[in-house]
Amino acid sequence: MDYSFTEEQNMLRDMVRKFTQAEIPPEVAREIDEQDRFPRELLAKLSELGIMGINVPEEYGGQGGNIVDEMILFEEISRALPVLAWAAGNIILYGNEIIKTNGSEEQKKKYLPRLAKGEVIFAYALTEPNAGSDAASIRTKAELRDGRYIINGSKIFITGAGVSDIVVTNARTAEPRFGGITDFLVETSSKGFSTRPIKDLGYRGSNTCEVYYDDVEVPLENILGGPECLNHGWKQMMRLLNTERLLLSACALGIGQGAFEYALNYAKQREQFGKPIGTFQVIQHKLVDMATELEAARRLAYYAAWKETQRMECVKETSMSKYFCSEVAKKIALNGVQILGGYGYTMEYDAQRYLRDVLVLSIGGGTTQIQKNIIGKQLGL
Ligand SMILES: Cc1cc2nc3c(=O)[nH]c(=O)nc-3n(C[C@H](O)[C@H](O)[C@H](O)COP(=O)(O)OP(=O)(O)OC[C@H]3O[C@@H](n4cnc5c(N)ncnc54)[C@H](O)[C@@H]3O)c2cc1C
Repeated sequence: MDYSFTEEQNMLRDMVRKFTQAEIPPEVAREIDEQDRFPRELLAKLSELGIMGINVPEEYGGQGGNIVDEMILFEEISRALPVLAWAAGNIILYGNEIIKTNGSEEQKKKYLPRLAKGEVIFAYALTEPNAGSDAASIRTKAELRDGRYIINGSKIFITGAGVSDIVVTNARTAEPRFGGITDFLVETSSKGFSTRPIKDLGYRGSNTCEVYYDDVEVPLENILGGPECLNHGWKQMMRLLNTERLLLSACALGIGQGAFEYALNYAKQREQFGKPIGTFQVIQHKLVDMATELEAARRLAYYAAWKETQRMECVKETSMSKYFCSEVAKKIALNGVQILGGYGYTMEYDAQRYLRDVLVLSIGGGTTQIQKNIIGKQLGL
């Protein structure tokens, strides 16, 4: 079996690592976290590397890369500044992936070249106050009036909605639970569209928002995939799930790696009882467990991604990956705080930031419990 990365993929990892080392020293990551600021300048610099079109087909101005390429990018960025990976996700996942997978030819031509240059930002709005894990219960409604759809309702926890140009909005257009949902490309400059930022524990700067639709008018051609895709919203979302779970796995791997390296360096330097704490077997074994579990999580994630690139059935593996990577990274970040002792508990050291950031990865994109439900079903339970 050969799961090794290609030469291009190794070059991609090196390039992104050089970028993060040059542009994101720890003090920059701290500042963005403290100021809860969307990392717009860093996103622009990342776009200058020509990386925003990583998964956009070449004929639309992108690099035509696959999910493994995307994961390398997300893992490397998350190691330095997780919120920048999410900001890139607003383009790469919620823009490129949604439009290239589900968009009409007209929508692909309109958005993909601009997305590939990082000129336009998307958000994806599914979750509502009463529809979280049970996403098919959404109530935000779109009604046809005089040849246009009018959207009314609200969404919650929408990443980057306040800094986006387009919010892909799931709305109810018919009664059937799954077959009555349509995705609309809603321009955030539309009359009646507004957002309220929510203060989060971690991923500060990701601009999580509540979104309100008050008689927002949307033309028929802004139905994702075109007017013939009315009521196709649920099917369209299903096509994105593997990609989203794998990218969130990569985010977890990056945070896990960052938290592990931070704790490892500390354990080598911090002395108690006349020697580095890393020489105490308890600390050493803790770090060994962290490194081993992280490596196991990484193998699972890239194995699932490889299956996806081979167009093999991999629903079970992508859910396993999302669940395992996020839980392993959470454990690593928590152990990191413990290894730093009292310093780990202060806001003056970065161990707490890894922990605050990682917690959402077992919630967003389908919680760990929901992933386990999916895996259970795949096992015939
Ligand atoms: C920072 C952040 C960013 C987000 N970004 C986006 C975004 O961009 N777009 C978007 O649409 N959504 C987004 N979300 C929403 C996210 O997908 C939901 O929070 C998630 O799906 C869980 O829904 P909920 O919060 O309503 O929890 P609930 O569904 O109410 O779940 C509460 C608890 O019950 C458990 N539970 C629920 N149902 C079951 C079940 N059947 N079996 C076992 N356990 C169950 C859950 O695992 C959880 O522990 C984001 C959330 C956060 C926190």
